[in-house]
Amino acid sequence: MLVFHDPRCAEYSRPAHPERPQRITATVPILKKRHPDWTWRMPLEASPEMLLRAHSAEHLARVQAAADDFDADSPAHPGVFGHGARAAGAAVDVARAAIAGELSFSLMRPPGHHARREKAMGFCYFSNVAIAALDALAQGGTGRVAIWDFDAHHGNGTEEIVANHPQIAFASIHQMPAYPGTGARSSGNISNYPVAPMTPRAAHMDEMQRALDKLLTFKPDLLLVSAGFDAYHRDPITQLMLEGEDFQKCGEWLREINIRAGAVLEGGYSDALPELIDAFLSGWSGEAKCSAHA
Ligand SMILES: [Zn+2]
Repeated sequence: MLVFHDPRCAEYSRPAHPERPQRITATVPILKKRHPDWTWRMPLEASPEMLLRAHSAEHLARVQAAADDFDADSPAHPGVFGHGARAAGAAVDVARAAIAGELSFSLMRPPGHHARREKAMGFCYFSNVAIAALDALAQGGTGRVAIWDFDAHHGNGTEEIVANHPQIAFASIHQMPAYPGTGARSSGNISNYPVAPMTPRAAHMDEMQRALDKLLTFKPDLLLVSAGFDAYHRDPITQLMLEGEDFQKCGEWLREINIRAGAVLEGGYSDALPELIDAFLSGWSGEAKCSAHA
């Protein structure tokens, strides 16, 4: 497993904000201790050319200026452009590593799947996974990219950016009703699988599998995963029921389908996040124990 990580991603915060540095700083030592053979690599910083495949020049200028908070969830942190560009760059690195046949994960913040072409929102500034998908296509050699978004929230930003793209298919499984309120319907290359609050685990996992199966009908050369862990039953900002072993199962599915795949961290706000990430990655790499800890 190749982990793209830059410690600078922990260098911004806002008091009491759930998208906090500890999500990452608590995860790093656990993965390093349990998986001493995994390779850690500094990600590239996404270039303007990469960012402009998904966003307007005006959006880049607004994030660069970071004059006022973008919304209540998305502060204008000092240096937020660099933080966002490094998280987007790590997603690009993940896609490129996947194409080269490596299992890889981006352990970075900020997340990306709510960032729209023209708007930072929902803790997200740049649409990391969409930028990675568009970069993979621009490199040549990849004909079709699928994006499986199992974060508890609808990947509205990714959806907006990739909608109607003939070489990209997107599927999102998410709580509804919940933030950001979109994702009730499917059309064209977009497949949405809303689940009600308190949906039993088995039914939720059935939707996760349906979404993945739908993407496989697209016959992707590359599968990118928006890996959010906020569908965990103790997550403080959602009302879903998944356990650690469910995220392990998601990893095992990736292993079984045997398509070049890469995963990028989205949400996940409980103190169990390191265990959930480990469960997913261990399931994927084939190192999982019989049952996950969390
Ligand atoms: Zn989320």
